[in-house]
Amino acid sequence: MTSTTPTHPEIRESVAALCRDFPGEYWREKDRNDAYPTEFVTALTEAGFLACLIPEEYGGSGLGLSEAAAIMEEIHKSGCSGGACHAQMYIMGALLRHGDEEKKRRYLPEIASGALRLQAFGVTEPTSGTDTTRIRTTARRDGNEWVINGQKVWTSRAEHSDLMLLLARTTSREEAAKPHQGMSIFLVDMQKAKGNGLTIQKLEAMVNHATTEIFFDDLRIPADALIGEEGRGFYYILDGMNAERILISAEAIGDARWFIKKARDYAVDRRVFDRPIGQNQGVQFPIARCYAETEAAALMVQKAAETFDAGEEVGAMANMCKLLASEATWHAADTCLQTHGGFGFAREYDVERKFRETRLFQTAPISTNLILSYIAEHVLEMPRSF
Ligand SMILES: Cc1cc2nc3c(=O)[nH]c(=O)nc-3n(C[C@H](O)[C@H](O)[C@H](O)COP(=O)(O)OP(=O)(O)OC[C@H]3O[C@@H](n4cnc5c(N)ncnc54)[C@H](O)[C@@H]3O)c2cc1C
Repeated sequence: MTSTTPTHPEIRESVAALCRDFPGEYWREKDRNDAYPTEFVTALTEAGFLACLIPEEYGGSGLGLSEAAAIMEEIHKSGCSGGACHAQMYIMGALLRHGDEEKKRRYLPEIASGALRLQAFGVTEPTSGTDTTRIRTTARRDGNEWVINGQKVWTSRAEHSDLMLLLARTTSREEAAKPHQGMSIFLVDMQKAKGNGLTIQKLEAMVNHATTEIFFDDLRIPADALIGEEGRGFYYILDGMNAERILISAEAIGDARWFIKKARDYAVDRRVFDRPIGQNQGVQFPIARCYAETEAAALMVQKAAETFDAGEEVGAMANMCKLLASEATWHAADTCLQTHGGFGFAREYDVERKFRETRLFQTAPISTNLILSYIAEHVLEMPRSF
């Protein structure tokens, strides 16, 4: 099936070739057992795809977000999932942009080679919800150490990560000059921390996403775990969040393309009333509409990635492409399920699994309402609603 946005065809072909070794049965088995796709993550790491955004001088391939988006889209278009490992691509940006030279030399080459896994990103907390300024996890300086107390929720991949990028309050919201100030980011060595003030508990969820709850109880980490300047952590993660939204959008586009192909192929093959169901316009039109919607969203994702790579302001575009791509894939998922009739519910077709997985994009990493309020306030200059 052709696409109007075939960026980076060589990269896409190599990713697709790697993904052919991880067919539906592989993902079904992981989903059934709630297991981490270690073999898939290892294959992506060894092929260098997860290090694509790390500059060459630190052992990566020094490519841009446009190439990274092509990788993630192709993974999802092939029926695989990047959810187990995508965070490394965008979390690493905080270290790259705001870490000092010594830290970059210490960590980035090992992250690029896969010797160190930087997959965990601890922002969300149970009580603060999307209002990040109200996080309660604190980091208090004590001599040559920081002492961390608090709790995170939905910290994905924590059990499969050596390092975690953690956002914590170093000045209370009340004492900070502005609500977004007074938060700092830390690179936590999880292997040292486990059992010494850090506890991880698996969180059972609708999707196989290796997600957890994390508890900090007087966890002591070295003073130099702080990245950048104390109190500016929220601003540091914003750039990473834009990259995350664009990459997640690319995954959503990949999923949408998978659903559309799957629906199209089934509609052409399946014969009912002595003709292919796809001969009926009632079956064709929803698939055709999803195709058009996906192509439009894909153009916006591509534009957002190019804008990010050009170093231009990308906040509105990153949010809008996430909104459009998450809705395009949801419509494609629903259409694909409907096209398959009862077989859409049978595990062996993979549709029901991908249907559950792709629903996440409307909630995480940012929910649709929050994107709409961003557009209303920051783009349309309407009154702030909260
Ligand atoms: C599988 C999974 C993996 C995740 N992985 C991570 C991770 O690795 N690291 C991490 O830090 N977080 C992670 N998250 C958390 C995710 O980013 C949050 O769930 C998401 O941002 C929504 O926040 P919340 O759940 O606190 O919802 P809430 O903020 O409680 O919002 C609940 C609902 O109310 C709506 N709402 C809230 N306020 C307003 C308002 N003012 N106006 C209109 N509507 C509003 C929201 O849109 C939403 O629909 C993950 C979540 C899931 C489900």
